[in-house]
Amino acid sequence: MNYEYIRFATLKVFKECNIHSFPINCLEILKHYNLSAHSYSSLSNELRNYCMSYSDDALNYKDKICYNDKQPFGRISFSLMHELGHILLHHNDNHNPKTEQEANIFASNMLAPRMAIHYAECKNQTDVVKLFGLTNEAAQYAFDDYRRWHRITVYQKMNSFDTAIYNHFYNENIKKFIYSIKKCVYCGEDILNSSDYICVKCSSPKHIYQVKQETDTQLLIAENQWLYGGI
Ligand SMILES: [Zn+2]
Ligand SMILES: [Zn+2]
Repeated sequence: MNYEYIRFATLKVFKECNIHSFPINCLEILKHYNLSAHSYSSLSNELRNYCMSYSDDALNYKDKICYNDKQPFGRISFSLMHELGHILLHHNDNHNPKTEQEANIFASNMLAPRMAIHYAECKNQTDVVKLFGLTNEAAQYAFDDYRRWHRITVYQKMNSFDTAIYNHFYNENIKKFIYSIKKCVYCGEDILNSSDYICVKCSSPKHIYQVKQETDTQLLIAENQWLYGGI
């Protein structure tokens, strides 16, 4: 099994799709490679039955990937990346235990690169589920594999793949490895490497006081205008 070859294939996708944050958007990635994704629910009964008899999860036919949308989100993500793995690793519909394992390794490293698990400071499988959107089973595999990787890397230092992935996710401006970028739900500012949905500025007590003051003033104006006939 050529792990490095598979991991470099994931890095190629991170670069080509400009991915700098987890969890990744699997449907967007498929679009980038001109693959159309179809949920089993959107298919005719006949086609759906055919797909179900073939796989509970997903299947790939030419440039189409059909997936079972009744599965949990994490499992769908894994299936979509598994199918992409078959395509990008050039398995050419050659399904055997080796190609299946390769596609699984590809999917696992796409959804949760071991270095990202490290910088996200995941302490266990539950943290991996939370930050990378994996199923429990996939998160357990990824976390165990991360620990193996970490043990080896401490002794042997980073290999060429590790260096390449570090460089891709390293942010020059803030001089850090970035694994998550979200927009603050209030002000739209970038929130980096945090599970919060509100930035530090918007969640400060001073800001909350200001917002309350502004709301109170606006309410007073509205009250005067509409309730008491204008000011
Ligand atoms: Zn497969
Ligand atoms: Zn904010």
